[in-house]
Order: sequence, then structure tokens, then C-alpha cells
Amino acid sequence: MRATSAFSHEDVKYFNFGYNPISKPTLFSFIFYIDGLLIDTGQAKMRKQIQQTLAELDVDQIFITHHHEDHSGNIEPLKNQFDCPVYAPNKCCDLMKAPPPLSFAQKLVWGSRPAYRELKPEDYQIKTNQYNFEIIPIPGHAPDMVALFEREKGWLFSADLYINAYIGYYLKDESIAQQIQSIKTVLALDFEVMFCSHNLHFDNGKEVLKNKLQYLQDFSGKVVRLHQQGLKPKEIFKSLGLKEHGFINLISHGELSKLNMVKSAVRDYENGSLT
Ligand SMILES: [Zn+2]
Repeated sequence: MRATSAFSHEDVKYFNFGYNPISKPTLFSFIFYIDGLLIDTGQAKMRKQIQQTLAELDVDQIFITHHHEDHSGNIEPLKNQFDCPVYAPNKCCDLMKAPPPLSFAQKLVWGSRPAYRELKPEDYQIKTNQYNFEIIPIPGHAPDMVALFEREKGWLFSADLYINAYIGYYLKDESIAQQIQSIKTVLALDFEVMFCSHNLHFDNGKEVLKNKLQYLQDFSGKVVRLHQQGLKPKEIFKSLGLKEHGFINLISHGELSKLNMVKSAVRDYENGSLT
């Protein structure tokens, strides 16, 4: 089943797209539109609905926050539809030339993410007629991920930095130490409203991010203590009472897994990035 809805806040329009192969969608991705700028392109599984929904907009540039398939799934079709440049951080441009393969679960829920070589690198700012968006690197969830910050308006487009107060699935290449640092970086910014790519906007963005920071620090602290006692990641997982979503873990071949989060804390502790 497919679902689409639209929202707005001040000058920001945003659109929510969800797909589920069997029942009502539970996972959604947002595309934002402000003053001619489109932020992200959604998932390939919703391409037709996305193209129809956005058709009324006057888009003159597109920006990609990171290479994940629910943000980069429709770059080429939307570039062709609006005949406009598509910008992304340098690291994202590189990753999109030969993006990492997707698991079956990711293909099933979001759809494929073809390579794209025409992205224009931009690491500093994106300007529209009325607004100036600073590009803030927030790696961790993805190595190339950035936020867009409009200082005058106090808007923060936080990509996948927040998503939720807890983490259900963790990708193999995520870094918990970088996530902690990125939240600290963002908390130092003077923003009023946080636009999350998988949730509605937050007027209490700092509060929810502080909760997430606490969660990540508590989790990694517990993992490190058990690791210091000599436990292996699987043993740490068990002794923390964690449970995998068996089906998702299976169909993603372990790509989406809470064990990955334990392993990330151990890895980051061992390489000195988690103190
Ligand atoms: Zn992501």
C-alpha cells in the first residue's frame, strides 16, 4: 500500500511518502520544499506519487542530504522533471558514483537506488532567493550526511540525525561515536524548529535531541563496560536483553540489526573515538 500527505510550517512545505508491500505503511520519508529548493528525493517505490505530488511546485534546485536510498531514490527522474541542478556534499557525490549494494529488505521497502554521476558538489551553503542554508556535516548514521541550517529563520533540516528517541535498526557502517558528536554539534546551533526526514517537524528539537544523546551515551557506556569485562558483542547483546526484529534481520542479511549497534560501540571504543 502507498500513502502520501502534505504539511506546511511557515514557508516550508513538506510531503510524506510511505510504502509497504503488504499492509499500511509504517515507514515514511519526507521531501521538503522551500523557496524553489527541494531537499531530498524520496524512495524509488513512491516515484510516481512523488512526481505527481511535486508537479505543482516551482523547483529550481535540488539538494541531497545523504546517499541512502530513501533520500536519493529519484534523483534522475526529478532532475529531468524540473530541469535543474542537483547538489550534494562532496562525500555524497563520490558515494553516489558507485553506491553500496542494498539488502533485500531495503529494496523491498524503499526500492533501488541507481548510481548517479551528475551531482554537483557543495559543502558550504545553498542559497535561494530569500534564504541561506549553511551545510553542517553530521556523520554517523551515514558518513556523508549533512544538515541544512537557516540561521535567520532558526530552521534546521536534520536529515536522519534524530528519526526517533531510540534506534530499532542499525546499519553495518554506522558509527555511534560520530552520531554522539554530530548531535553535540547540532545542539550548539541556535535553531528553533527541527525538520526531521522521517517525522513531523519539532518545535522542541533540542529537547528530543538531548534525549537521543542520552540514549546513545547510556547505550555505548553499557556496551563499553561489558566489553572491558571481556564479553564478545553477541554476549553483550544478550546480557543487555536486546532483541532483534527477526524477520527484518533475516531479509536484510544482518544489514539492519541491533547487534550492529553493539559492534559499532565496541569498534569506536577500540579506535579511541568513543571515550
Ligand atoms: Zn539515512
